Amino acid sequence: AKEKGRNTWQRFSLETNAGAVERLVLETGLRHALERQEIFLHFQPQVRTVDGVWVGAEALCRWRHPYLGQVPPVKFIPVAEECGLITEIGAWVLAEACRQGVAWQRQGLPALHIGINLSARQFATPGLVESVESILRQTGIDPRLVELELTESMLMDDAAGAAELLHRLRRLGVRLAIDDFGTGYSSLSYLKHFPIDRVKIDRSFIKDLETDPDSAAIAGAIIAMSHSLGLAVVAEGVETEGQLAFLRERGCDEIQGYYFGKPMSAEDFSACLRRQMAA
Ligand code: C2E
Ligand code: CA
Ligand code: CA
Ligand code: CA
Repeated sequence: AKEKGRNTWQRFSLETNAGAVERLVLETGLRHALERQEIFLHFQPQVRTVDGVWVGAEALCRWRHPYLGQVPPVKFIPVAEECGLITEIGAWVLAEACRQGVAWQRQGLPALHIGINLSARQFATPGLVESVESILRQTGIDPRLVELELTESMLMDDAAGAAELLHRLRRLGVRLAIDDFGTGYSSLSYLKHFPIDRVKIDRSFIKDLETDPDSAAIAGAIIAMSHSLGLAVVAEGVETEGQLAFLRERGCDEIQGYYFGKPMSAEDFSACLRRQMAA
């Protein structure tokens, strides 16, 4: 038993060190990632459920590390948050996504709304509203096409402060969406206190729609209740025809997921959209 305990400890300690080393490598790399142009965006289509037309794109951050290769955002965004680089990276993402939206329109593509993720730390950084305002002005994007995605937890700690911030962002003309809806502890009636336009149903409920009656019930309830509160609904992570059929029947407004398209480069995105328009 003693021997086993020791092995366990050693393994634990090694893993902890490996985690610390990895974190250090990521943090060091992140400090130069923007200037070295290692960070870029992919775009995933958001599709109108009734007719399958691409009406929006979510901008998703990618990092190509010189040695590690592609580091997924779930790994580097938390590191960027901890070391404070998220403010700079977040501002870059916002500007780049808006620039791309404008570029697509100049190329003759239809006006698409662009979803942009805000991290908790970014949301709590003073000057966010000013930063968004200046990026809107510099890029010249129609603010109504910009949709900022926030999570429930960002609104929970200081509801009054968050509500004020959301109102200030809304006054810039942008739209606001709640990301990963259903995974936090808030209810839709709670969200009623915030100037929200849309709700994005978390992928965890969509994944099991066809096999788990509870997931189906929750997804259905989120759609019905959102609509009764005047909120539009996007379903995330739709991968199958069956999931799509369920969501269409329930009147879900938009769909995002591998079924219609994975996140892709801006060039691939516009090529796909063109092909679709020509068809
Ligand atoms: P998210 O905002 O919930 O983004 C959706 C994630 O689900 C994306 O993962 C997307 O590729 C994935 N996804 C979409 N459809 C499907 C599907 O049908 N099946 C499956 N299995 N997955 C699907 P990704 O790009 O790896 O991003 C992960 C998370 O990293 C995002 O979750 C978001 O929280 C964060 N993130 C990404 N880019 C940014 C960014 O620019 N800023 C901030 N703050 N966070 C970001
Ligand atoms: Ca998102
Ligand atoms: Ca999400
Ligand atoms: Ca997420």
